[in-house]
Formats: sequence, C-alpha cells, structure tokens
Amino acid sequence: MGFFNKLNKGLKKTRDNMSGAINSALTGKNEIDDEFYDDLEEILIMADVGVETSELIVSRLRDSVFKKNLHKAKDVTAEIQNIVADILSGGQEVDMITVPSVILVIGVNGVGKTTSIGKLAAMFKDEGKKVILGAADTFRAAAIDQLQIWADRAGVDIVKHKEGADPAAVVYDTIEAGKARNADIIICDTAGRLHNKKYLMDELNKIYRVVDRQLPYADREVLLVLDATTGQNAVNQAKEFMECAEITGIILTKLDGTAKGGVVLAIKNDLKVPVKFIGVGEGIDDMRPFVPSDFAESLFEAKEKEED
Ligand code: GDP
Ligand code: MG
Repeated sequence: MGFFNKLNKGLKKTRDNMSGAINSALTGKNEIDDEFYDDLEEILIMADVGVETSELIVSRLRDSVFKKNLHKAKDVTAEIQNIVADILSGGQEVDMITVPSVILVIGVNGVGKTTSIGKLAAMFKDEGKKVILGAADTFRAAAIDQLQIWADRAGVDIVKHKEGADPAAVVYDTIEAGKARNADIIICDTAGRLHNKKYLMDELNKIYRVVDRQLPYADREVLLVLDATTGQNAVNQAKEFMECAEITGIILTKLDGTAKGGVVLAIKNDLKVPVKFIGVGEGIDDMRPFVPSDFAESLFEAKEKEED
C-alpha cells in the first residue's frame, strides 16, 4: 500500500470522528447559521484540536462563508479543509544540507523514539544517504538492544556503549564515527526522563555542547516525539519539553488507530512548532515527511489514490 493510502487508512478514526460529525452537522441545513458554528467548534474540540485553534478555524470559516457567499455543504467542508491545510503549513521543511547533519530525538518513554529512528534511518537510506545511529538512551540495556535491532533492519551503522554510560559520550563517539565514515546523517536516540526536569535539561545541554563543539556548522534538528493517541496530553508534554530543550520540530507517532489526530492542529497552532514527520504504523515503511495538504485532504476525504 502506498503511503497516501496508508495515511488515509491511519486517519480513518480521526476522519470519522471529525469530518463525519461536521457532515452530519451540515446535513439538512439551508444556511450556515450560528448553530452550525457552535457545533463545529464543539466537534473540533472533541477531536483534540484544542480550544484556541478550534476558535481560530471557526472564525476564519465565518469570514470565508461571508466573503465567498458559501451555502453548499460541500463548499463549506472544502473551505474548512483549506483552512486546516493553511494552519498546518509552514516550517515543516527539514534542512539537512551539511554533511554530516545531526538529528537528536527526544521525548518521554514509550512515545516511539527508537521506532521512529529506525524508520527515519530506513527512509534516508532509501534516499541514498549514509546514516549512522547513536544509542544515547543508555538508561536501560533493552533500549540499546532495541536500537541495534532497528539498525540491522534498516541496514545502517550504530555506535553504542554499555548500559549506564554517559549519553554525551555516546553522542561524541557517534559523531566521530560519522565523520570518519563520511556519514550524511547522524541520528541519536536519547532517554526521556521528564519527571526529573533538571536532570533532563543538564543531560540535553551536555549533548548540545558536544554537537556544538564537534560539528559547529552542521545542520541540526532536535525532534520531539509525541504520541498522537494521547491527544491534548501530547500538547502538554511538548510545553514541558519546550521549557527545557531547544526543539526544531515534532515527530507525531501512532496516528494510525487513534481518533485524536486533530491534535496535529493544536501542536502547530498553539505551540508554533512544526510537525516534520508522522508515523502511521509499527513497520519500517510507516514514517514520512509531513505534507500539510495531504494530511488535510486525508482528514476530510477517504478517497483512494493511485500510487506507485
Ligand atoms: P520509545 O520508548 O520512545 O523509544 O518508544 P518505542 O520506539 O520503543 O515505541 C513504543 C511502542 O510504540 C512500540 O511498541 C512501537 O512499536 C510503538 N509505535 C511507535 N510508533 C508507532 C506508530 O506510528 N504506530 C503504532 N501503531 N505504533 C507505534
Ligand atoms: Mg527507546
């Protein structure tokens, strides 16, 4: 199955929950009245879009309906889709021009960091890039083993130390190995212990300093992984991380099988952090760059696409 169809399938629950309800609210309406706008706001909030962003969508829709004199349900839903695509776009580009470039992956346990790194590695390798992974989540031996499994699966190199080793030292060695082996992209896993903010902040700062020192001019992405199934909690988690880490983008995982996919709008609009990659499954092919227009289309239309 091509990725668009996978995305379509993955977003089914969100789509049913959100655009299904919007369609019902529009059924039998001869004019777009206040009752509809109230219903729409409620539907969006229920779909984890967040209060602020739901209000923004409603007010922009009111404007468009008035200015463009929209009456038909299908024109109104098309307009909502345009507004959603517009809110989602901007900043999602990933600049990794320098050789090497560095990606640090952060986030709490269980959100899908290690899995996402495996998928990213496979994706970049597919694009012809040389990838090296650093197992800087040294907190548990299982985390190192898990990254090794993904490195084998993706067919890329990995640098690892023993359980309990200094994460910054792992990052240092990964960068050195990356330079020596002419890697294009260095991706480092980290442990996410948000319950100890001071510790996390110190650990991340130490890692940033290593990257600054070893690769001062390299393009760097700090990607926060959020689990879409947690809805508004993901937004709160992001707020906490933003207090202690520089974040350049979000990887939103587990969009398959959740009705809370609307959270992508809250992340982009409330937090002003772009979603850069999305995960729609546990397989190695289930990660893609985030394309706002495709995402918006998938949120509203279930149509199948021809893909190679
Ligand atoms: P970490 O603790 O942040 O490194 O999280 P892991 O990478 O170990 O993932 C935790 C669980 O989430 C694993 O069972 C993964 O298979 C699962 N997972 C990760 N990404 C996705 C996704 O996009 N969709 C689904 N359905 N499961 C995922
Ligand atoms: Mg992990």
